Amino acid sequence: MLAAGCGDIVSNYTAILDWKLAHRLLDIDYSDSAAALSEMTAKMTINSADAIKEGLTESAGLVVKALISSGIAISIAGSSRPASGSEHKFSHALDIVAPKPALHGEQCGVGTIMMMYLHGGDWKFIRDTLKVIKAPTTAYEMGIEPEYIIEALQIAHTIRSERYTILGDRGLTHESAKVLAEKTGVI
Ligand SMILES: [Zn+2]
Repeated sequence: MLAAGCGDIVSNYTAILDWKLAHRLLDIDYSDSAAALSEMTAKMTINSADAIKEGLTESAGLVVKALISSGIAISIAGSSRPASGSEHKFSHALDIVAPKPALHGEQCGVGTIMMMYLHGGDWKFIRDTLKVIKAPTTAYEMGIEPEYIIEALQIAHTIRSERYTILGDRGLTHESAKVLAEKTGVI
């Protein structure tokens, strides 16, 4: 559960990139302070990745504080944009297509790796951090068949379609979804 919580927090990185993109393209409301708080929360969690271990009360405290900070960022923004973007769309899509979905935060963490790849950011850093926290970084570790990852990537853009993200309005084709999942080592 702790590792899943961390996956939900690293989501902030891609959520903010998606939010900035939508702001640039569609002029949607954007809050610098909400984005800064959300980003700082993700950074602080990642910086203490080594200290986040199962069974440690301090670890639970760290993760809960981070989740609360993300919640505050959402309140400031008046929308879940600071903590939910394309990586959450992917997770919700997996909930629909996979017979046995993994935990929300686990799916969001894996989604963050792939969406960061699309954004051209440091996706390896996200992956390595999740590994340190012992959160899953592959379909296999989530217990999900590769075909469902590809299917979820293809329909992710249709989830909350009014929320513009790096997935755009048309989403990914089967081919591009496969390339994305393979290049990031998810499948
Ligand atoms: Zn979430």
